[in-house]
Amino acid sequence: MGNSNSAGHSLNQALASLLGRYGGAIDPAAIAPDSALRLAWDTGCRALDQTIGRLAAAAGTARDQPAGIISLPAGEQLALAILDRDVLNGVAGRDGNTSCAAIFAALPVVIAEIAGAIWKDARCLHWIGDVSSLPATPGGDSATPPGFELLRLLAASEAAPPEPQVARYLRTAGLTQIAADRGGLCPVRAAGFAQTVTDALHFVWLHEIAHVVLGHVDGSRLHLGSDSMLELEMAQPIARPAERKVNRVRQALEVMADDFALRLIFSHRHGELARPRSRAGPRLDPLDRIATAVIGAAIIPLALHAAETFSGHASPVIWHPPLWFRAQRILSIEAMAYRDACDALSAAAGSRRELLTAQERFQVLTHCSAALMSLTALHPLVADWIGPMQEEERRRVGARFLEDLKAETATSPIIGGLRPKLRPAPR
Ligand SMILES: [Zn+2]
Repeated sequence: MGNSNSAGHSLNQALASLLGRYGGAIDPAAIAPDSALRLAWDTGCRALDQTIGRLAAAAGTARDQPAGIISLPAGEQLALAILDRDVLNGVAGRDGNTSCAAIFAALPVVIAEIAGAIWKDARCLHWIGDVSSLPATPGGDSATPPGFELLRLLAASEAAPPEPQVARYLRTAGLTQIAADRGGLCPVRAAGFAQTVTDALHFVWLHEIAHVVLGHVDGSRLHLGSDSMLELEMAQPIARPAERKVNRVRQALEVMADDFALRLIFSHRHGELARPRSRAGPRLDPLDRIATAVIGAAIIPLALHAAETFSGHASPVIWHPPLWFRAQRILSIEAMAYRDACDALSAAAGSRRELLTAQERFQVLTHCSAALMSLTALHPLVADWIGPMQEEERRRVGARFLEDLKAETATSPIIGGLRPKLRPAPR
């Protein structure tokens, strides 16, 4: 991790055993400035700060370590890492008193490629910025939607490392370069692109951090019977019907991690609404930043789904919630976080207050929904999961999925035995 002090040294030893299986971590000090990897690392550090800022510490929680490491209660430590392998995913694990939330090196660039395709398509988020110079139907062959080429390449070469020039691109590609490929973006859409990449990275980091701070890596290690390293995102699927229950427990853990990440992202966004709005420079409207976060949070589930489709085997799908549910959950949590923000505002003011006018709120809801729907313009792959189902129907089926999941996992010793390490901060 590039630490030079002695605390860092012993931490490095713990991390070495934790990360050894994945080929080790990239030294943050060696990451090229301006690259997607640099943005990924900086976003991870901010996600760690945000987690600590919004969740009160249990005693002993401190941010006195080098960037990318925090102390948790009971002498535990949580470290971030970017793992030096070209696969698409994140992972949360634990070895002794050291927990790790990590993403793999290819993820930031794949996210940026997909985000670039979204903002370079005049049909996507068309109300933001100037789309007049963008192609109405971008090229790309029928099998691979624009923006998914790299993902397809990586999915196909899962067994073998990618070509050296691909590997190099994954470590050095800059956001400016990715945004400029295949046509230019107006400054507002360029800002939207950068924001979407940040939001998607934020989501994946907070999701992995959630697996640690909600105690999933402990509970799963004890009860699922794996060894000292829990591969929440990497383990082989358990396909026997008798073990459906274990998969349902995993789905429940994934829903918890998604919810944790989405709550923090949207409460941050709603917090921005309460501050004076600046119109200086090519900035996104704060209302549009909410729809941008919806897209950002949808990119990872979408990319994983696409990778599984391309590689022809549906591994994590078994224990991840279905894609349409994850998409619906993004909208549900945004609505919950908005209500929480209005409640907090009302409590502080001593009378009922709304963050937005009714008209503004209607606009946000319409745009969030339209943002998800605009992904269906990219490829039939996306249309399959979100297009045919009406919004009301999605909401109803989503609520039933969640109820069934809770009922089936209520008596699980894993769910019952979770010991979160951080609690929500009192307002
Ligand atoms: Zn997960």
